[in-house]
Amino acid sequence: MKILVINCGSSSLKYQVLDMTTEEVLCKGIVERIGIEGSFIGHEKIGLEKKKTLIPMEDHKDAIAQVLKAVQDEEYGVVKSLDEIGAVGHRVVHAGEKYADSVIIDDSVIKALEECTELAPLHNPPNLAGIAACRQLMPNTPMVGVFDTAFHQSMPPESYIYALPYEYYTKYGIRRYGFHGTSHKYVAEKAAEVLNVELEDLKLITCHLGNGASVSAIKRGKCIDTSMGFTPLEGLVMGTRSGDIDPAIVSFIANKEGITHEEANEILNKKSGVLGISGVSSDFRDLETAVADGDERAILALKVFAHKVRFYIGAYMAEMNGCDAIIFTAGVGENDIMMRELICHDLGNIGIKIDPLKNKVKGKLTMISDEGAKIKVILIPTNEELMIARDTLKLVKGK
Ligand code: ADP
Repeated sequence: MKILVINCGSSSLKYQVLDMTTEEVLCKGIVERIGIEGSFIGHEKIGLEKKKTLIPMEDHKDAIAQVLKAVQDEEYGVVKSLDEIGAVGHRVVHAGEKYADSVIIDDSVIKALEECTELAPLHNPPNLAGIAACRQLMPNTPMVGVFDTAFHQSMPPESYIYALPYEYYTKYGIRRYGFHGTSHKYVAEKAAEVLNVELEDLKLITCHLGNGASVSAIKRGKCIDTSMGFTPLEGLVMGTRSGDIDPAIVSFIANKEGITHEEANEILNKKSGVLGISGVSSDFRDLETAVADGDERAILALKVFAHKVRFYIGAYMAEMNGCDAIIFTAGVGENDIMMRELICHDLGNIGIKIDPLKNKVKGKLTMISDEGAKIKVILIPTNEELMIARDTLKLVKGK
């Protein structure tokens, strides 16, 4: 079966068509500047060169229409007609407490996701717009929703309840939800495969370190804790997000700077993290160039980032009473040799030791732990699109 995977943002949309008999990607692309002057579609049929077409697109329906046109193109397409696409898998950011797994989308699912919009006001509306457009243009094709929050729904209450007045949880749904669930689940399954051990028998710590970053504790295949919370702001230091801070700082900054709480929140989301500390960049490649030039604040930013990852690794080892493997994934986790070294430095006493030679690798599945170390450390490139396509296939097949 061929499956179309759609990841719809507010002004951009990423897509892939996969052939699920081989799990091969047939084509992929991105639509950018939806509803903005200069919108275009960048499409790539695997094996051919990328093709960029400038075309006005007013909304998500226009964008999806262009995607469907591209995938059926005589030269660059991968299907003759849309009937060849057996199902569409949609990435949706927030499903609140409503779904602990992916689901086939019907009207009741749409309603449930609309109810979650308050929890993800920037993300769920474009996700829903993409689903609505696809349902209109492919009315007979089953659609599946795959949620960033779903994998973390297995967390026990002690992991997700904030120590706030309890009615804020019951009245407003204020609790920890966690994000990047599709990635954490994918690398956990892959780790079980690589280690040749059932997921059921493993304790894993998965570190998704990208521009956004989170760590999860996965025991017997179930997430029992994760570092992101009510929003993706909690937890690790990130490219531009602060991660954990004393909550009193928000109103303190607002008072001192004469700004609103919303503006302070914006600073925590967009001007903090390694960008905020270094004043250089949110991109770790730029930071490492600055470090090579002796930039003190860039050095500090990387140290603070590594410190927080180590902090969570230690906490999750305590929560799970040990750990069999630590997984590094996403942009920084997969490519940043120096950061992996900084994170794993001097942890031999708790069983973590990486082999500096094996660690000299980027973007390739590799066991980087020292032969003699108790805990395996594995670099696993993430593949959220494949995970979405797998979940979609599983649900559609079962129909
Ligand atoms: P997101 O999906 O959250 O946007 P990614 O997982 O794609 O993020 O990660 C992007 C980040 O990965 C970049 O901002 C950069 O900091 C980091 N990165 C990518 N390639 C490298 C590299 N070769 N060395 C160090 N860091 C890298």
